[in-house]
Amino acid sequence: MLNSRQQQEIRACCDAVSFDVSMAAYSTFKAGGQAAALAEVQNLDQLSALLEYCRREVIPWRVIGRGSNILVMDTGFNGVLFRLGGDFRTVQLEDESETTVISAGGGCLLADLLGWCRRHGLGGLEFLAGIPGGVGGTVRMNAGAFGHSIGEFLQVVSIIGADGVVRKKTATALSLDYRSCMVEGYGPSQAIILSVTLQLQEADGEQIAEIMRNYMLERKKNQPLSSPSAGSFFKNPEGDYAGRLIEAAGLKGARVGGAMVSPVHANFIVNDGGQGTAADILELMHKVQEKVRKQTGIFLEPEVHIF
Ligand SMILES: Cc1cc2nc3c(=O)[nH]c(=O)nc-3n(C[C@H](O)[C@H](O)[C@H](O)COP(=O)(O)OP(=O)(O)OC[C@H]3O[C@@H](n4cnc5c(N)ncnc54)[C@H](O)[C@@H]3O)c2cc1C
Repeated sequence: MLNSRQQQEIRACCDAVSFDVSMAAYSTFKAGGQAAALAEVQNLDQLSALLEYCRREVIPWRVIGRGSNILVMDTGFNGVLFRLGGDFRTVQLEDESETTVISAGGGCLLADLLGWCRRHGLGGLEFLAGIPGGVGGTVRMNAGAFGHSIGEFLQVVSIIGADGVVRKKTATALSLDYRSCMVEGYGPSQAIILSVTLQLQEADGEQIAEIMRNYMLERKKNQPLSSPSAGSFFKNPEGDYAGRLIEAAGLKGARVGGAMVSPVHANFIVNDGGQGTAADILELMHKVQEKVRKQTGIFLEPEVHIF
């Protein structure tokens, strides 16, 4: 909980701020506790001021995107969550003379980025169609599908850390792994991605649209898209699929409260009816991990970031 002086001072840094906010409204799981503050940051000045304030007052902070791969525990997050909007939502050519390199803000929705690429005849990212994230979260997660991930296209990442200094890091300074991207010299949650430059390729807009439509159809066929979830809950272990192991353990349809292992896709934990709590989801997660470990010796690591 922030006291009223802190709330006022935070509001002075960024007026689009809410206090004691239920994170169920900001996560695709539609579950989770409260954040002491959620700041919809519009520009770098606001973000720098907030970071400085949090540093001075020793208030924990984290950045979130569209909340499609997070679960905030029911006990909540006792600090400030930043969400990048305004200036951080732009997409443009990095340089007018280089027609296939673009710059996208960390707060830009993937759907907006993909629409921009289609309109400008730039292909490569179509495999991301249907992933409900923002650019910063997608890069942090090194999100991907159908054999590709966003890391393949990254050239430069512009970040700001707790010290308030903006730095540009080339792809060589990033540790890009399966569903993870870390910046050299920064802790896992300490580099806020402000923008990225991506190397794409010229392509026909109609063809781009067609490829995206096909990927979306694949998703509709195989994923429980009408129930709240965070997509695949667990990372695939080396050489196997989490969904296959969970299904083989007889866990399709297993429930704890409102949380259920989807009968459509066993690696999706869904918040059935939207009434489940984060505790339900976490208990089901443990149940799945335990049973799969007992049967196969494999520990399923969550892909979802829990905080
Ligand atoms: C129906 C559904 C389908 C999905 N399908 C896929 C899929 O096919 N492939 C896949 O990889 N994922 C998939 N996901 C998961 C999720 O959509 C992606 O991981 C997405 O890219 C996360 O983006 P986000 O903006 O929602 O990030 P969030 O969930 O908000 O955040 C995820 C992590 O990134 C960090 N973060 C967010 N913004 C920033 C930033 N600006 N700078 C630094 N760190 C940041 C957060 O602190 C958190 O640790 C799916 C999810 C759903 C609900």
